[in-house]
Amino acid sequence: GPVSIGVDIGGTKIAYGVLHGDQLLSRHVHPTPDTGWEAVLDAVAAQVQALQQEHPDARLIGVGVPGPLNAERTRVKFAPNIYGFTDVPLVDGLRDRLHQRVILENDAKAAALAEAHLGAARGTESSVYVTVSTGIGSGIVLNGRLWRGRHGIAGELGHITVQPGGPVSGAGLDGALEAVASGTAIARDASYTLNRDVSTKEAFALAEQGHPGVRRVVQQAMKHIGVALADLQKVLDPEVFVLGGGVASVGDYFFSGVQAAANEYAVGFAPVTIRRAQLGGDAGVVGAALAAQHG
Ligand code: BGC
Repeated sequence: GPVSIGVDIGGTKIAYGVLHGDQLLSRHVHPTPDTGWEAVLDAVAAQVQALQQEHPDARLIGVGVPGPLNAERTRVKFAPNIYGFTDVPLVDGLRDRLHQRVILENDAKAAALAEAHLGAARGTESSVYVTVSTGIGSGIVLNGRLWRGRHGIAGELGHITVQPGGPVSGAGLDGALEAVASGTAIARDASYTLNRDVSTKEAFALAEQGHPGVRRVVQQAMKHIGVALADLQKVLDPEVFVLGGGVASVGDYFFSGVQAAANEYAVGFAPVTIRRAQLGGDAGVVGAALAAQHG
């Protein structure tokens, strides 16, 4: 089968892997340079070259990034949660460094592709993958293909407005879903409630233990996400939703909270079927590698 390299650029780390058929052969993780996009591209090029030393047959390169792309998929408009990542000519920048063809994809769209081909949405024709982590994003698969929209921004779920006048997102929008319900937002609001710094994971643990203030914060976030899924059900009516990302990996409490809210707001229309992502933290790398194979 085809061999390709997948790169998943995140706000704190960059993951690399080699995909052979449906097997992820090697996976490396390195910190994301925080000195601007040129440094990020330098790091990516160096790691890809190192991987190609081990896997000389891996000539297809796919890169996933956490932000909207231009319609041609050559540039990143901005990555709301990576410092200095604005209007990045990623394809040209990597081509200059590697002298190889590079395919660019949004991180959530890449993960949606991975879950649709090899994960929880396998065998379906329509699915929406939703990632809840530092930000919130989604990838929409319709009739077996990614739906990008006219400008390539279809699926930018983290930036729909759910609470006008509410907290401002990394894209500068007030009351955006990711500003009120992402892992970052949960940690921020729980920290405020407790008057000390808590992580998202800790916030979930406290909510489960019944801490009233933190429970309110977490339930509010789960409600916003569930409502968003019920809204998408009414707009797109996909067969399944796949829930992934760092926050989803916290487990049952999150899933049942989101499912309950989705059910509540879809009642009378159609059930909202939510599955857990199967590829976990590998979805981004696998999806970027698949994007490279698909062109
Ligand atoms: C970005 C999306 C991305 C999501 C998850 C959002 O802030 O706008 O493009 O998919 O975060 O990383």
